[in-house]
Amino acid sequence: MVPDQVHHVLGGGTREAQPAQEGIGQAGADDVMVMYLGRPVEQGTKETVFTRARHPYTQVLLAATPSVDPKARSKRMTVKGELPSPVDLPSGCRFRTRCPEAFDRCAQVDPKLVRVGPDHEAACLLYE
Ligand code: SF4
Repeated sequence: MVPDQVHHVLGGGTREAQPAQEGIGQAGADDVMVMYLGRPVEQGTKETVFTRARHPYTQVLLAATPSVDPKARSKRMTVKGELPSPVDLPSGCRFRTRCPEAFDRCAQVDPKLVRVGPDHEAACLLYE
């Protein structure tokens, strides 16, 4: 279950950045930005992010989207716990208390966006 909002604004006519506080928002004509607790965790072209999502939060959001592909359905991921308070953020990675991939270092280091492919960035210690 993903209690956070998922913002699907694909195909919209606007070219202005519209990052959402949580979920997936359009960041340009062909780009999307994934936000978690007010911070971008993944960005890239629509095709890249939706077909090769690298950040666990993006993967959870996309897994929560209904699919007719039986393979996609079998790979569903879920988040644990509740959304932390913005005034009492977890140490290290903001997503670590809910991340299915979290490991010890995630509590100590706040990941920055790093390049994970052409026109594709993610903020996750799995890629640093
Ligand atoms: S840095 Fe760690 S907790 Fe944060 S998204 Fe990556 S694996 Fe998950």
